[in-house]
Amino acid sequence: MKIGVLAVQGAFIEHEQMLRRIGVEPVEVRLPEHLEGIEGLIIPGGESTTIGRVSGKWGLLEPIRDLARSGRPVWGTCAGMILMAKEVVDGVPGQPLLGLMDVTVRRNAFGRQVDSFETDLEVPALGDLPFRAVFIRAPLIERVGEEVEVLARLEDGTVVAVRQGNLLATSFHPELTEDVRFHRYFLGLSGR
Ligand code: GLN
Repeated sequence: MKIGVLAVQGAFIEHEQMLRRIGVEPVEVRLPEHLEGIEGLIIPGGESTTIGRVSGKWGLLEPIRDLARSGRPVWGTCAGMILMAKEVVDGVPGQPLLGLMDVTVRRNAFGRQVDSFETDLEVPALGDLPFRAVFIRAPLIERVGEEVEVLARLEDGTVVAVRQGNLLATSFHPELTEDVRFHRYFLGLSGR
C-alpha cells in the first residue's frame, strides 16, 4: 500500500516514519505525477501559507481535490488541517486552501502564551486508552458542518479532531508521538 505525504514544507519526514512503522510505503509528493497510484495522502504540519502557496505553484491543489473526491483518504495535521478547511478565521488574506471539509478553523488559535502544549485526549474512535496530543501553534475548529463527525475535544469542549467520510483533520501532531493509532485509523477510512 502506497500513501503519499505532501513534502512541500513542514513535518513530512515524521509522518513517513510513522507510516513505515505500520508497514506502509510513504511516497513524497511534490509534483502532480507523484499522486499517481497512491491510496491516500497526508498533509503535514508546518506553515499553512507556505504549503498552500507552493502547492498552488506546483499545480497540486486541484489534483489533491480530485484524489479526495475519488474517496481516497486525505488527512491534514495542524497546518494541513487549515488547508483542508472550507473556511479559515485569522488566516492570511487570500491564502490558498483545499477547501475540502465543511469546518471553520481558527488559525494560531491558542495565542502566543500557550504556543505549544501537550495533553491526553479521549478519542473513542481509537479505543479506551487516551491519546497524547502535541499542539504547536495549533489551529482549532470553531464550526463543524452537519456531515462532520467530531472525534476529539479538549476538556473545555474545543474541537480538535474531525472526520468527514474519507477526510480527517487534527489540530495536533500524532506523528510526533510513538502512538500509531491515528495513522492506522486514517488507513481504515478508505472505501467507507
Ligand atoms: N501556525 C501554523 C499555520 O498557521 C500551523 C502550525 C503547525 O502546523 N504546527 O500554518
